[in-house]
Amino acid sequence: MTLIERLARPELLSMTPYQSARRIGGTGDVWLNANESPFANNEPGYNRYPEFQPTALVENYARYSGVKESQLLASRGADEAIELLIRTFCVPGKDSITICTPTYGMYAISAATCDVAVNKVPLTPDWQLDPQLTDKLNGSSLLFICNPNNPTGSTLTPSQIEPIIAALSDDCIVVVDEAYIEFSPELTMASLIEKYDNLVILRTLSKAFGLAGLRCGFMLANDNIIDLAKKVIAPYPISAPVGDIASNALTLDGVKQMETQVKELNALGYSFFDEISKLHGVNSVYHSGANFVLVRFNDDSWFKKLGDAGIVVRNQSHVETLQYCLRFSIGSDSEMKKLTDTLIRISDSFK
Ligand SMILES: *Cc1c(COP(=O)(O)O)cnc(C)c1O
Repeated sequence: MTLIERLARPELLSMTPYQSARRIGGTGDVWLNANESPFANNEPGYNRYPEFQPTALVENYARYSGVKESQLLASRGADEAIELLIRTFCVPGKDSITICTPTYGMYAISAATCDVAVNKVPLTPDWQLDPQLTDKLNGSSLLFICNPNNPTGSTLTPSQIEPIIAALSDDCIVVVDEAYIEFSPELTMASLIEKYDNLVILRTLSKAFGLAGLRCGFMLANDNIIDLAKKVIAPYPISAPVGDIASNALTLDGVKQMETQVKELNALGYSFFDEISKLHGVNSVYHSGANFVLVRFNDDSWFKKLGDAGIVVRNQSHVETLQYCLRFSIGSDSEMKKLTDTLIRISDSFK
């Protein structure tokens, strides 16, 4: 048995995926196989079920990410891909996932909704992986590593992650969540999919591509994992308008626009970092490889003071090891100016 066959939920291996009308397909010019309406009341074609995986979308994302089309699954956001992985590889009430905390909250929530246990291995105080991580998995089928990490913004190099994937090649699937990878493109591990059967990469259009409202993400992995996930995902996961808008965003021009905007946001992030590092009451500003910055203040009052000024940020103070921390997304030039001015004003009150 291969690693993937051993780790997959046993009932999935022999299961035939739901045979939707679209999947069975056919040729002809009279389509009466899917109980669709003949009336196209909205856009032409919207009366028909969409393709299981829109061809143009998969082609464009494969080109952008450098993997083969068969190594890709488009999903309703990376969030759906997280849930699909748990539903594909974890037996409820029996299996577990491992996460490196503090990290993105949905891994634990998705696991909980599937009755799957969560094994937490905290990051070191400078947000690096625990040096003994591979010995602390407690038999988990999935290890989630978020890079760049949310909410810390911290980054790991591929040379730090690759030995873990190699060491676990007989034991566990390593899921590298690259939701923010466009802000640190040199860190991507997409090219290692060819080399490791136990590597999965998660991507999204919600962050750098500016399409959070669209709900479109991707799972990148070898065919054996993608084929299993295709058995678990809903029959028509990508709606026709989403497929159309997303494939447009991934044309060469669309990618170029994203890259220009990433440069602008990264520059705004660096100036924000410099400007607030020197303020009274700011204890630490953490280096970030993503489009947000985590800041530790001297007390819990800053969140409310920012809120009173009409600035909504993410309070992380309740998260273990993140006391007095706020996470700031990098917004437009004028939004960052207003944020910085307000932080300076609050800071002056501590002098
Ligand atoms: C935003 C985010 C996601 C979710 O992405 P969607 O495609 O919007 O579902 C996944 N992982 C991390 C680390 C994120 O920050």
